[in-house]
Amino acid sequence: MLKERVAQAKAVVQAGLVHQINASAWKVPGSRGKQYLVTHRSGETARMRCDLDTGYGLLDCRGNSNGHICKHVLSTLIFRAKKSKHNISFCTNKRDAQRLANLVGGQKFLIRSAQNRGKVWVVVYK
Ligand SMILES: [Zn+2]
Repeated sequence: MLKERVAQAKAVVQAGLVHQINASAWKVPGSRGKQYLVTHRSGETARMRCDLDTGYGLLDCRGNSNGHICKHVLSTLIFRAKKSKHNISFCTNKRDAQRLANLVGGQKFLIRSAQNRGKVWVVVYK
């Protein structure tokens, strides 16, 4: 469920465990000591990739490759919003995102996985 992944993603950000490497890369911890590398290509801030860093190389994050947006990417989105002093909410469809954007005076964006068909709508507001 999106709601549960968002709650887990928020907890990781609140614990100060997300580290920005550069303008388009973040390190996010996962379960059992795993480390994930979340990236987007320059100019493609809405197309997010997530890889498990094995220490020897990178493997596709399974959570971001199965039709969802993984919690590591969600953590990164929350981290980015927080850094720019915005609030962020997540919606599973465009209609809900538009409704929320109207309600809070925010902007909606579609975030896609660079690895599969996963997507999530976000609403960003002050
Ligand atoms: Zn991931």
